[in-house]
Amino acid sequence: MEELLKKLESNGMKAFYLSNRGAAKDQILNMIPTTSSVGIGGSVTVREMGLLDGLAGRGTEYFDHWKSGLSKEEIMAVKRKQVVADYFLTSTNAITRGGKLVNMDNTGNRVAAMIFGPRHVIVVAGENKIVDDVPAAIKRIKEKVVSRNTSRRGDRTPCAQGEPCPDCNSPDRLCRVTSIIEKKTMGVETFTVIIVGEALGY
Ligand code: SF4
Repeated sequence: MEELLKKLESNGMKAFYLSNRGAAKDQILNMIPTTSSVGIGGSVTVREMGLLDGLAGRGTEYFDHWKSGLSKEEIMAVKRKQVVADYFLTSTNAITRGGKLVNMDNTGNRVAAMIFGPRHVIVVAGENKIVDDVPAAIKRIKEKVVSRNTSRRGDRTPCAQGEPCPDCNSPDRLCRVTSIIEKKTMGVETFTVIIVGEALGY
């Protein structure tokens, strides 16, 4: 873990390890000024940690496209607000031992906001997201993340049926863009990665 934190730091990111989700939640809430706006990525981890309740409880404005009852147009409007918020809070699909963050998106709002838009990006991830390298990250994402999401959504993709990925051309295809953040981009002022010593999200 110490070596991974050093790699992330050498990639221009601030990196912390916290043993449990409660400590990580406190640290993240302390990092975000109450009056800032926060874009929330499509992340099970962020929600499992109770971060939305934490932000709401102190009156911080946040943009959550998973809020129930939103129309398709409203979801897209919330996603657009995320990329111009002060902070962007999300997890990542995978972290390599070399300190690279690998993600696949459908709409692209999450990978966009991690690269440019919000001045401050905070990524929180359970240690289950750590993989050896970029090929292992892509394998993990296709087999453990995309297939689970397409299956949950009832998409008509091979992975949703438990089949190996043929790089499909389905209209329901979920993995439409892959980003590999090798270093903090110049468009982001602070990029913080918090690794939690437990399994979070998937
Ligand atoms: S390309 Fe298609 S089959 Fe492969 S992981 Fe993506 S959605 Fe699933």
